[in-house]
Amino acid sequence: MPLPHSYRGRFAPSPTGPLHFGSLVTALGSHLEAKKHNGTWLVRMEDIDMPRTVPGASSDILRTLECFGLHWDEAVLYQSQRTAAYQEALEQLKHGGMAYPCACSRREIADSALHGIEGQIYPGTCRNGIAAGRQARAWRARTDNALIEFEDALQGRVTQELENEIGDFVVLRADGLFAYQLAVVVDDAFQSINHIVRGADLLTSTARQIWLQRLLGYPTPDYMHPPIAVNTLGEKLSKQTLASPVDCNTPAPILLRALNFLQQNPPAELAGYEVGEILNWAVAHWDSKPLSGIMRITV
Ligand code: GLU
Repeated sequence: MPLPHSYRGRFAPSPTGPLHFGSLVTALGSHLEAKKHNGTWLVRMEDIDMPRTVPGASSDILRTLECFGLHWDEAVLYQSQRTAAYQEALEQLKHGGMAYPCACSRREIADSALHGIEGQIYPGTCRNGIAAGRQARAWRARTDNALIEFEDALQGRVTQELENEIGDFVVLRADGLFAYQLAVVVDDAFQSINHIVRGADLLTSTARQIWLQRLLGYPTPDYMHPPIAVNTLGEKLSKQTLASPVDCNTPAPILLRALNFLQQNPPAELAGYEVGEILNWAVAHWDSKPLSGIMRITV
């Protein structure tokens, strides 16, 4: 068992393609923050969304992290192996009356829902039972008017009224797969993660995750959401926006670029150094403060 106060962080990529600059800066930020605190840094493969998972992408991502000197401290956890744990968490929610089956199709929700910060706000149609003759498709967690407040280390105080801003949200999808929101909470607790550093695009997911932590009796980690890399159209770098993979043949200049992205101003002399030495400098000088309040940076 880890010491109760020792820092445990993680990088949790979805293996939908090779590591690109956007995911590299997220990995680097979480690594530096963990190492600055003499912490343990883990990698977890979020390969639960099988339809989006690309064969070979997990091992490709791991190889790339290694060539950038980002070594993880314990065995990699694969979400595809964790279905029984997610099922158990869902049973716990059902048992407490905090999850219910939902028969609504996307179209029905689109027809009746308001638009919120993250797409449609589920109007609660099935909260008190499914209409006669309808089939359950997904399972949703009840939000019960919860007001969630937390302090993000970079983005400040965040307040979200779950029911009005998000609505009861899916924990088991209509295609039978567990939703990211449930899986991430179960695994962060299972791995005793107490510090989460990840892209600012996930800031709006955090309240749902804190709510699930409360329902499941898990502790809530500290959160830090550094800015994400976006292209000139303002789109997050991703496989969909055709971000190119980072090149393992020239890791040192890319690592320096990533440190510049993270506002660390690496000195010019570092240009001739190996990744290990650059990372040693970066851990010793890491300061997240210049990233305060920044949600995205164009690259
Ligand atoms: N797997 C998620 C992603 O790649 C990140 C999950 C997290 O860090 O909470 O966007």
